[in-house]
Amino acid sequence: MTETDLALQQRNQLLAEGLIKQLRRRNIDAQYCETAAQARAAALALIAEGETVSWGGSVTLAECGLLAAVKETAQAGRIQVIDRDNAATPEERFQRMRQALLADTYLTSFNAVSEDGQLVNVDSVGNRTAAIAFGPRQVIAVVGLNKVVKTVEEAVSRARNFAAPANQLRCQQDPQLKGAPGSVRTPCLKSGTCSDCRQPGCICSQIVITRMSKIAGRLQVILVGETLGY
Ligand code: SF4
Repeated sequence: MTETDLALQQRNQLLAEGLIKQLRRRNIDAQYCETAAQARAAALALIAEGETVSWGGSVTLAECGLLAAVKETAQAGRIQVIDRDNAATPEERFQRMRQALLADTYLTSFNAVSEDGQLVNVDSVGNRTAAIAFGPRQVIAVVGLNKVVKTVEEAVSRARNFAAPANQLRCQQDPQLKGAPGSVRTPCLKSGTCSDCRQPGCICSQIVITRMSKIAGRLQVILVGETLGY
């Protein structure tokens, strides 16, 4: 390991230790994993056999391999999943998003986290932010330290001006998510930053700050010392 790698590893460890203390003060359980593979294993360990599991749209969950692992576990018959991504119609997809609100475990990430432990998400129809706030028995969030910023104001700005435009651009590449060609014309598709639009194709209906969990331990944050998502 080079001196630079060691310094970054130590910096991540220190940042995570401070953040874990802040999250626990907010009734939110937290742990730190250096790698995405460790985070995937830690998340799977929190899911009990027989549970029903669902998730919100998240690049992080795909990148760390957690979604694939959960689907494999379901195929082996150890859990059930509510998978909106293999729904046959948009109506069925929406119905599964509603059913996910009563899952035992809900998987997600956050768009940004402030150093004092506040969690920010921007959401399109609000299924993800709803599940984080209430419904599933537990919520497991995998969050790369690349999403940690100093203040909650910076976290909201990151979610709106960085994560949301990037997500909107990603959605245009996804045949399941994009509308008819050219139908989505939000300003961020041209500028790469947010113009606070209210276009029909806007993906920012809800901006939710989770500042604590009313139920201790319901929300579990797994911080990861690798860049995941955006
Ligand atoms: S321009 Fe609209 S869709 Fe794009 S990030 Fe801003 S509010 Fe969201």
